[in-house]
Amino acid sequence: MNITPMFKQYQAIKERYPDCLLFFRLGDFYELFFEDAKIAAKEMEITLTAREGGRGVKVPMCGVPFHAADHYLTKLVARGYKVAICEQMQEASASKGLVQREVVRVVTPGTMLSGPMENMNRNSYLMAVLACHSGWSVAAADISTGDFLMAEFTGPASQTHLAAEIARLQPKEYLLAPEATPAEVDWLKQNCGGVVTRWKPPEGVSAAVAVLQRQFGEDFSSGPGGAILAAAMVLSYMESTQKTFLAHLHPPRLSRLQNYMVLDAATQRNLEIVQSLKDYKVEGSLLGVLDRTVSAMGARTLRQWVQQPLQTISEINRRLDAVGDLTDNLVARSSLQQLLNKTYDVERLLARITFNQATARDLLAIARTLSVVPRIKALIGELNAPLLVELGSSMHNMEDLCLTIEKGINPDPPAGVREGGIIKDGFDVEVDRLRQIQQLGREWIAELETKERETTGIKSLKIGYNRVFGYYFEITRANLGMVPAHFNRKQTLSNCERFTTPELQELEEKILTAAERLSALEYEIFCQIRNQVAAQVQAIQITARAMATLDALCSLAEVAGEKGYTRPLITDTAVIQIREGRHPVVEEFLRGAAFVPNDTALGNGKPHMMIITGPNMAGKSTYMRQVALITLMAHIGSFVPAREATIGLVDRIFTRIGASDYLAGGHSTFMVEMVETAAILHQATKRSLVLMDEVGRGTGTFDGLSIARAVVEYMTTHIGCHTLFSTHYHEMTDMADEIQGIQNMVALVKEDIDGVTFLHKVVPGRSNRSYGINVARLSGLPAPVLQRATAVMAELAAGNAEVAATSQMVNSTDQMTAKKENFRWPEIMAELREINILETTPIEALRLLDRWQKMVSDVREGEPG
Ligand code: ATP
Repeated sequence: MNITPMFKQYQAIKERYPDCLLFFRLGDFYELFFEDAKIAAKEMEITLTAREGGRGVKVPMCGVPFHAADHYLTKLVARGYKVAICEQMQEASASKGLVQREVVRVVTPGTMLSGPMENMNRNSYLMAVLACHSGWSVAAADISTGDFLMAEFTGPASQTHLAAEIARLQPKEYLLAPEATPAEVDWLKQNCGGVVTRWKPPEGVSAAVAVLQRQFGEDFSSGPGGAILAAAMVLSYMESTQKTFLAHLHPPRLSRLQNYMVLDAATQRNLEIVQSLKDYKVEGSLLGVLDRTVSAMGARTLRQWVQQPLQTISEINRRLDAVGDLTDNLVARSSLQQLLNKTYDVERLLARITFNQATARDLLAIARTLSVVPRIKALIGELNAPLLVELGSSMHNMEDLCLTIEKGINPDPPAGVREGGIIKDGFDVEVDRLRQIQQLGREWIAELETKERETTGIKSLKIGYNRVFGYYFEITRANLGMVPAHFNRKQTLSNCERFTTPELQELEEKILTAAERLSALEYEIFCQIRNQVAAQVQAIQITARAMATLDALCSLAEVAGEKGYTRPLITDTAVIQIREGRHPVVEEFLRGAAFVPNDTALGNGKPHMMIITGPNMAGKSTYMRQVALITLMAHIGSFVPAREATIGLVDRIFTRIGASDYLAGGHSTFMVEMVETAAILHQATKRSLVLMDEVGRGTGTFDGLSIARAVVEYMTTHIGCHTLFSTHYHEMTDMADEIQGIQNMVALVKEDIDGVTFLHKVVPGRSNRSYGINVARLSGLPAPVLQRATAVMAELAAGNAEVAATSQMVNSTDQMTAKKENFRWPEIMAELREINILETTPIEALRLLDRWQKMVSDVREGEPG
């Protein structure tokens, strides 16, 4: 094809990035060509045009202004595209022929620096997943905050741990080795969402250690090989796409399973820790209740805490001490929150510094954030908790840096960095001088205008300016005869002509040179200040992290104070003892109606296995989840919704709740139930807390009951962990009489003529019958179905299974009768309720009885035969 040199350059660059859309910088625009243009125009909803690509060649094209590129990049990347950003490496004016261009960065879903605002409260990870002989190795980094972690999962439960980590981090992009099997890719795509990219890990662990050492200057050779390989894989991908030294990246920290309470993917979902089951929003989740943070950094920290409850008593107590201190000192806490509210997302701003993308506004935001440090330190001085004191002393003041930024940068700078208007007056002598020339220039021009008006005698003569022609004298047609000889014609318009003179030219040069030099100098000084910030990245990061931790602690304290939570006692014994516990989320949503508190006693002389019976809707699930959430909250260092709580360390919480069909994965509801139950029986330890909601219900009654009994027996005798087992098989309550280590609990209801009333009180005891039909009555099932169900149940209870099976639903006449009876019944009930027995004479009572009898027999007699 006969194409222009620019398109030859385009194609050479595009060949190196075949899997990316190429944003090709042309002046003030990023342009896309050929197939890229067709895809991008559709995805970004912009117009597809064409450009002359050579003799007779029309090339499809679309483009976006460079200053609005972020918006379009976000859109494309959110849809899973990768975008290579190709910049002009010289000023167009400085090059003779074709401007030199290079790809400076590749933006991918896992390496996107800025995302939509609503995602600021959570991290955005790129994760490498590597299969190794005994399990999985992973590493994940968030380029926008510098967070970097790695882990290894081995043994039979490694797949569960991998799924849990993925559910927790929800990465935007996965890196898989080229040799990863299609099954692995499919599993990731099906379970996890996110884009999968093939990327080659370094050749062996020592090569990986070298990659990490080059970046962090630390020796990683004693770390676990698989995790090191995965971390190096993440780093090399980031280096290759970002093409710059990532100074803000933290060294990868090894996340060990034993350091945190393990919450598998199902448990994270079922307990609604960071999002509700209903609409996947934070509102309606535990995080939704606990999050009163005032900064994005604090919000991200709190999210990490609720997803990774601690396992060390001293660490938990440090947080509890801090929360207690902040709860007691309300004035100091709210002052701290007011200060933290003024801070900006410094972690993300530092990433922009690393990428030389930070603007003058970003520098001001950093300075404004750092400027609250002395006041935060002073407030912390009033508090005693060791963690708070430590946070206070870890913060760096950096007064010099703040002063430089505040003195150097204009308080209201422009969004761009190259057009000047950034540096404050009085900061740099040369900037001031050039600005003065600009100012004087305006006066010189005004003086020249007056002078020439007088010497020429043309009253309407004026000096104008535009970017193309520079300064000019403008003289209307009527006065052209009076133009002196030293005026040189520049431009002719319909009603006037424009001229210049050597004097005006000289002035113009002075003014324009000063303007050009001024913006270049301002940019240079701005970069110097930005580099000063870059040199302090680590100190600023430490300060920012301390602020984030403080914000998360203040949040827990505010909620504790407002909702009357109490400090739990954390112990090393296997006990969960809760007095008047509440469900933190349900109590929030009951609005007006009071939540009924309940006690729990597991361990410390009480059995660890609880069989909970009671009707549907009576509050069994709420009770079980409340125990799990209180336990979890205690492990993150939060106060808990209870009058009193003693919580022994729990290594994992398991949940087998609800029916989630995984048909795509080839599992039925019952199969999922059994697979999850099996995983619990294999993985739970003496220190685990297990919630089992109606295990065995997805199959026939006898199979189900048998499985449920066997599971409870096994858990009691072989595992001995804390278990809350709710069931509608009331027969199971007999187990407490036969096996030591089982206690029965029942969710109480009141039953009267109006039906059942839920008391939501869970107390020791058992339910000796089920209430399914009573509860179904509340749901609006048709009356004939309810009546038939009652009849079948009566036969079954009397041991007449055969009668129950062979008798049939009432015939159509009976159905009509039932319908009509049902129709009059509310009337009779209403009258019955109205009677004041003390004031009713015997005769009136008889009359009423007679009336009701007629109402019933009327219905029967009125039926067609
Ligand atoms: P099912 O057997 O059908 O699953 P359940 O016994 O598990 O029912 P829950 O789902 O726990 O019942 O509770 C039903 C509703 O009762 C809850 O949505 C909540 O509104 C209310 N509820 C539960 N416990 C309490 C409580 N302690 N105080 C006040 N309201 C409660």
